[in-house]
Amino acid sequence: MSEKINFWDGKLIVPDQPIIPFIEGDGIGKDIAVHSLKVIDAAVAYAYNGDKKIEWKEVFAGEKAFNQTGSWLPDETVDAFREYRVGIKGPLTTPIGGGIRSLNVALRQSLDLFVCLRPVRWFKGVPSPVNHPENVNMFIFRENTEDIYAGIEYMYGEEDTIKLRDFLIHELGVNKIRFPETSSFGIKSISKEGSERLVRAAISYAVEQKLPSVTIVHKGNIMKFTEGAFKNWGYQVAEQEFSTQTFTWPTYERLVEEKGKEYADNALNEAREAGLVIIKDVITDAFLQETLLRPQEYSVIATMNLNGDYISDQLAAMVGGIGIAPGGNINYLNGYAIFEATHGTAPKIAGTGQANPASFILSGAMMLDYMGWNAASDLILQALEDTITQRKVTADLYALMEDASLVSTERFAELIIRNMK
Ligand code: NAD
Repeated sequence: MSEKINFWDGKLIVPDQPIIPFIEGDGIGKDIAVHSLKVIDAAVAYAYNGDKKIEWKEVFAGEKAFNQTGSWLPDETVDAFREYRVGIKGPLTTPIGGGIRSLNVALRQSLDLFVCLRPVRWFKGVPSPVNHPENVNMFIFRENTEDIYAGIEYMYGEEDTIKLRDFLIHELGVNKIRFPETSSFGIKSISKEGSERLVRAAISYAVEQKLPSVTIVHKGNIMKFTEGAFKNWGYQVAEQEFSTQTFTWPTYERLVEEKGKEYADNALNEAREAGLVIIKDVITDAFLQETLLRPQEYSVIATMNLNGDYISDQLAAMVGGIGIAPGGNINYLNGYAIFEATHGTAPKIAGTGQANPASFILSGAMMLDYMGWNAASDLILQALEDTITQRKVTADLYALMEDASLVSTERFAELIIRNMK
């Protein structure tokens, strides 16, 4: 019997036949969703000999919803994700005008999906611009609800902007606005609760998955009270809530000061050998360099919204996967999660049967992992990698690979199913 996924005592309770809502998506969403769902179904059927099965429930957003109901994001859709807790979606057109900045942002905000999780790994055979893409294996925890992304912006010349400018200058004594007459403003808000829950989620993930480190990426040297505070709150979470599972960089520095470098190095090595998660931090610009030079030194990344946006695309490009990178938006406190293809609607190739379904399929694999159905997820990763290694790929990868055979969206999905062992 099909049932809802529940959440109890901090954990998802997943029945054998969960009802899972999905949004097909606009543009190439129509081409990729149907075939991707078949791949996910096949993996579940193989992995559990038919004992588990997803019952998909289509819900509407974007153009399909607008044409049927006059609303880009009907309340029933948000309600369905709330009721069934875990879901998946294809790309959505951003409506022009109408007061909605982005449907994705609206969905994330209405369910308070505060983590944007992007795993970045290389699949054998995928063309990459770096020499050793196999060294890239990271999990980006990007804060999803705060930062300059909240959209608190004021356009120069407007009445509110002038009020804000005058308040800054006359009430707060700000004298650093270089061109006050023509300045626009954006407000960056970073809270203690928002920072703590993000870093807590990243550390919990590293502990559960037995990963070696969490790196807090920030520009706190310049933005001391926002990004700098994020770093400090992050270290506090590690030291106060995970003291037996982590070893933090401030602890290392304290030991250097009190007992010398050799002693501190030994303590760090012992922590590593004991399987403790090392919590460190890096300034964003250095991080972008470091990940190109020494990607193997980074595992889980905890960062704020804007940094997370840049980092996600840079790392995805390093593994050649900017078009196939998966993502998940998660609230670990109540279990709500929506997994999503991270690319857009690719209107130019919509309806041609050429789109690469890998981002949707890999988002499905992330969803299965999140549900604890890891055996099915592993099958998808193995079969996708085998298909790419056999050099049978869709047009986007075909254009970059030598000696590859071009296949359609549907055929690519069929080959993945055939490659499941
Ligand atoms: P896009 O990702 O749709 O396209 C960028 C380029 O990548 C195009 O050349 C496209 O053909 C190619 N591409 C993207 N996905 C592909 C796939 N699966 N297979 C093969 N090629 C693929 O980005 P865009 O053109 O900037 O945006 C188009 C629309 O999508 C806009 O309305 C935008 O707002 C929306 N969008 C939605 C999401 C989302 O829902 N998550 C994300 C980004 C953009």
